[in-house]
Amino acid sequence: MKKLITLSAIALSTLLLTTTAQANEEAHAKHDTNATEAKHETHHEKHWAYMGNVGPKHWSEVKKEFNMCSEGKQQSPINIVASKDIDLKPLDLNYTTGSSTIINNGHTIQVNIADGSVLKIDGADYKLKQFHFHVPSENNINGQAYPLEAHFVHATDDGKLAVVAVMFEEGAENPVLAKAWKKVPSLKVGEEAKCGLSADEVKALMPENKDYYKFMGSLTTPPCSENVKWHVYKNTMTASKEQINTFFSTFSFPNNRPVQATNDREIDE
Ligand SMILES: [Zn+2]
Repeated sequence: MKKLITLSAIALSTLLLTTTAQANEEAHAKHDTNATEAKHETHHEKHWAYMGNVGPKHWSEVKKEFNMCSEGKQQSPINIVASKDIDLKPLDLNYTTGSSTIINNGHTIQVNIADGSVLKIDGADYKLKQFHFHVPSENNINGQAYPLEAHFVHATDDGKLAVVAVMFEEGAENPVLAKAWKKVPSLKVGEEAKCGLSADEVKALMPENKDYYKFMGSLTTPPCSENVKWHVYKNTMTASKEQINTFFSTFSFPNNRPVQATNDREIDE
């Protein structure tokens, strides 16, 4: 039986080599929940997931490059409790471009943004690359989790990262999500579709009251790299129960990393 599994794994790997990169990614993602995952390691890269023996507690064992996931001292997400009131300046957001595509990458639904939208921090341009979602929320605020959290990921040309996060409560249907997620139920893992959000619609995913918390953290997915500048809005948006369910049923598992230790981090408000 063992031999049979190995053989089929080799056959699968050979098949993968002849298919497109996208299909390859799809197969990888499918293996996330596959019990034979460990047997594939010599054939292609081991992959991380949100459950089981490659779940959050084991991310640093999946690959050497993921060591920060267990060794880091400024990891995300966290339970946000403000430690310093410094009267933060409003975020200098200059979003002028809309979405290009939407993709199900096997871990989340991600909306890619056309070049040109910028968050300015201390004179540096952090370009908006994409936003994606976690159900339920990853960060907590004063001990409270939310049913949905969006992460707007920005990067400088030399690779510095800044995230702006928005919490969603269950309530009225969110019209921007309704438009963005229209194709989500039919999106296969690894598949990309056009997603016609305007810059104004992207901005409309953020609350009008722009008060926020600021702290240093990490990527919430492997390789869990640190020195990520986090900005989490205090005010929430809404999404309907149906919208949250649509997202959840796409993956049928929660895609949130558990809360990490704050350690001696300062959380500004
Ligand atoms: Zn995220």
